[in-house]
Amino acid sequence: MTESPTERNHPATESLLTQYPAVIAGKRVTTGRWIEVLDPSTARPFARVACCGAAEVEQAVAAARLAHETGWRFATAAERSLVCRRIAAGVRAARAELARLETRDTGKPISQALVDVDVAARYFDFYAGAVEALTGETILSQPDLLAFTLREPYGVSGHIIPWNYPLQVAARTLAPALAAGNCAVLKPAEDAPLTSVRLAEIALDAGLPAGALNVVPGYGEEAGAALTAHPGVDKLAFTGSREVGEAVMVAAARNIVPVTLELGGKSPHLVLPDFDAARAIPLIVRSITEHAGQNCSAGSRLLVHESVHDDLVAALAAEFRALRIGPGAGDPDLGPLISAKQRDRVLGYLELGRRDCVLATGGGVPEGAEYGEGFYVEPTIFDRVAPEHRLFNEEIFGPVLCVSTFSSLDEAVELADRTSYGLAAGVWTRDVSTAHWLARQVRAGQVFVNNYSAAGGVELPFGGYKNSGIGVEKGLEALREYTRCKTVAINTQPPGLSS
Ligand code: NAD
Repeated sequence: MTESPTERNHPATESLLTQYPAVIAGKRVTTGRWIEVLDPSTARPFARVACCGAAEVEQAVAAARLAHETGWRFATAAERSLVCRRIAAGVRAARAELARLETRDTGKPISQALVDVDVAARYFDFYAGAVEALTGETILSQPDLLAFTLREPYGVSGHIIPWNYPLQVAARTLAPALAAGNCAVLKPAEDAPLTSVRLAEIALDAGLPAGALNVVPGYGEEAGAALTAHPGVDKLAFTGSREVGEAVMVAAARNIVPVTLELGGKSPHLVLPDFDAARAIPLIVRSITEHAGQNCSAGSRLLVHESVHDDLVAALAAEFRALRIGPGAGDPDLGPLISAKQRDRVLGYLELGRRDCVLATGGGVPEGAEYGEGFYVEPTIFDRVAPEHRLFNEEIFGPVLCVSTFSSLDEAVELADRTSYGLAAGVWTRDVSTAHWLARQVRAGQVFVNNYSAAGGVELPFGGYKNSGIGVEKGLEALREYTRCKTVAINTQPPGLSS
């Protein structure tokens, strides 16, 4: 394959690092170019992954098309279901290996990586079951017309995913696409591509036909842009930032292909005076510190009624101070951030917060030789964050909770909806009517009442309002996203019979 090195790419020299190839047409492929993959807890490379460009994307799309036209498209739902169940079993069989790899690649605590593996397997099991129950509708609109709908796969689906939950998000988007009969090309994030490669290998071993799932690691502006611009892709699914989501949508518009966008968030907790503190506090803490806050649906804003503000902030600050920070392999509460770039971005927000808001706890990098060169930041709470402030409105993507107060329900809703995002929200109250009212008022794709995040929520449709995205992943809804509707109308009047 042709080589066009950039300054970030490494020449094809021998390396002691473990090498991960691309997977194209059922084969493990190297490209002559590599991306070094860093361990975020040490800032040192531990692996390298094949760096794909437009040429490899071309081959991957062609392989997906061939696999679709010559086999997967004609497989029965039962046959596709069986393969998905085998992939789920393969993921479970590799549980420890995948979790270790995900921890090394992303920095997340090992117990969180184990959950990611379990959830990834559940996606394949869930869509294995769901696709067997997928049916169209019968429409009897006229006496001599039998009309019905078919749900057909699009053909070749292109998937681009971020680095924060690589295995979970890969499974979340691939399982419904493959189960529905599409053949896929996946472009993982350059910062955390390794479990995507392993997932493709597991899928092949599970009996997925060669070419039905291709993985092309590479840089976003190169491999990602080539995939989104490719006229042979029939459906795009993107998970990542709002900014890149816009570029993906522009590319999709040029080829008139449907696009699912799962983008960022600035999700609020709305805490009312009658909230259950024992239940709320651990989940509020977890929602912004899990994977060090690098979570699209992180509960990053705390909107709290003035009357309970002081006690709640004091309790949360104490919980934050007790959190253990360290390398993911040691299973702390918080690991490092993904990269120096992400850490510096978060530190920029911490500087703004220290200048303009009230610092309740954290606010910097943890001190101590044990943190070495790792990309760590302290779990932080900023209090009295003004609704006009950047901290209130922008996705920080780190363990930073921003607290503001309200004094009426209308004000709570107004504050909740004030940002351009609308991914998730938490409502904390014992009053069932207030909970229902708030759940309906808030503009967010998922509203959790007296809980948050729901353990992966494989079965729960998930899609953002406003700048948080378009379309839905997860649940039965996602099967619709990866199929299109065809209507067949049959004249049922026998020849010669007058009506
Ligand atoms: P990102 O947008 O920078 O990158 C996401 C992916 O897009 C990567 O694979 C990247 O290589 C690729 N990419 C970059 N430029 C591209 C281009 N021009 N064309 C095509 N692809 C390109 O996002 P990130 O930093 O990896 O992830 C963090 C973001 O993802 C946050 O905003 C987070 O909220 C969001 N996210 C959303 C969800 C969700 O389900 N809503 C889930 C996880 C993460």
